Amino acid sequence: MWNYLSNVEESSSGTPRKKRNRKRDRYSCPEDGCDRTFRDKYEMTNHLRTHTGEKPFKCDWPGCDKYFTHVSSKTQHYKSVHMKYVPHKCSKCGKGFTKPSQMKRHEEKCSLKIYQPEMWNERKRHLEKD
Ligand SMILES: [Zn+2]
Ligand SMILES: [Zn+2]
Ligand SMILES: [Zn+2]
Repeated sequence: MWNYLSNVEESSSGTPRKKRNRKRDRYSCPEDGCDRTFRDKYEMTNHLRTHTGEKPFKCDWPGCDKYFTHVSSKTQHYKSVHMKYVPHKCSKCGKGFTKPSQMKRHEEKCSLKIYQPEMWNERKRHLEKD
């Protein structure tokens, strides 16, 4: 009888206790001097990297060896540094341009740059001969 009563009491007071438990369930940073708490373990793991300095995400751009803590910051870097400014590449020298028209204009000049000296030399030779 007493057991039954105590059980009822416990379950009736269980509702407010659950709320308190939820707060305690938050993940808190184990680092000394850091009192940050997180709603889920994934968030905390991400945060912990700021303490360890671990940067597991490497920029995919060839020749760029920047590392990032989060995949989102890597994507942001990739877009702003490698994609945003130079999405159009010269097929001859690889120089990047923001607009396709800029790239085309350069590409024309770029081919001229390569062939012009030879053409001029040819012409010069002809002129000298005459
Ligand atoms: Zn921390
Ligand atoms: Zn990069
Ligand atoms: Zn070029």
